[in-house]
Amino acid sequence: MNLALRSVDVVVPCHNEAEALPRLHRRLAAALDGRAWRLIAVDDGSTDGTDRVIRDLAARDTRVLGIQLSRNFGHQAALSAGLAEVRADGAVLMDADGQDPPEVIPQMFELWEQGFQVVYGVRARRKASPILDVCYRVYYHLLRRISDVKPPLHSGDFCLLDAAVIRALRAYPERKKYWRGLRTLAGFRQIGLPYDRPARREGTTKYGPLRLVALAADGVFNMSFFPLRLIAFLGAAMALGSFVLALAVLGWYFSDLAIFGMRPRQVGGWTSLVVLSVFLSGVQFLSLGLIGEYIARMYLETKQRPEYHIASRTDQAAAASPTDARAPTS
Ligand code: UDP
Ligand code: MG
Repeated sequence: MNLALRSVDVVVPCHNEAEALPRLHRRLAAALDGRAWRLIAVDDGSTDGTDRVIRDLAARDTRVLGIQLSRNFGHQAALSAGLAEVRADGAVLMDADGQDPPEVIPQMFELWEQGFQVVYGVRARRKASPILDVCYRVYYHLLRRISDVKPPLHSGDFCLLDAAVIRALRAYPERKKYWRGLRTLAGFRQIGLPYDRPARREGTTKYGPLRLVALAADGVFNMSFFPLRLIAFLGAAMALGSFVLALAVLGWYFSDLAIFGMRPRQVGGWTSLVVLSVFLSGVQFLSLGLIGEYIARMYLETKQRPEYHIASRTDQAAAASPTDARAPTS
């Protein structure tokens, strides 16, 4: 198979992107000239006529496929809807607003042709507000620290996925998807491609502060049990700390020092009450944390993530053509 002729489906979630889409379509057509490509535009409950714009594009260009969702389901769900339609040898996931430049895609192809199955964009320079920039940095560093899989720093959803990876990703039955996390989880040969991320040209960002926090929380809770473990950790620390406190309070009791005008011996039962209550709260937190461990495991199970993916096997002819969209037989 001539690698250079691999076909690609470009998946673009669109929420109120009527202004941005025609330009994106032009830029894609220029950047992907000579390739077999399709634009899969998913209208995620827009209210600004995005659907009409997509229909116009599709009427003029048969390479455009429009999918309209019944309401606004959110960026990640729109990506899922688009990914389900991919039939090509690979797919590019990108924003509609031009912040993921189509001109970068040919560079992604080069790495794909070298055998990489996941090429993700790495934001070399972010033209966003400095405050947001600091927030992103802190968030991604924290997320990497506390989660078992390490999503690459400064990468978003902009990426090229080989059909094998798309098949693997489709096997994740969990409902709340966090694609950039799953992409990392899937494995395969991955590489980052630095690019300059310009500011949004048309329209406005759909991620206000609250939505950003919600997306960040999805990232943490979908990729890590750290918050639950924190409870157990706090509990253990308090229970242990209560021993130190007990020693200190006992020392105070026997030395009979006046602190803030108070001596423990004046107040009957104070010493034992303080030590007991700290110790017991520690035990409570620890127990909550232990219960949390089980909930965490149940949570993982109910998500029903596949345990592993088979990339190739010796008892079958070399990997089926990536255009083969059937599920792997096993
Ligand atoms: N988007 C979507 N549904 C939503 C919110 C956003 O499909 O509910 C799309 C949006 O149209 C864009 C992409 O997701 O193509 C990223 O959104 P945006 O550019 O607003 O995010 P930012 O670049 O500001 O992080
Ligand atoms: Mg954007």
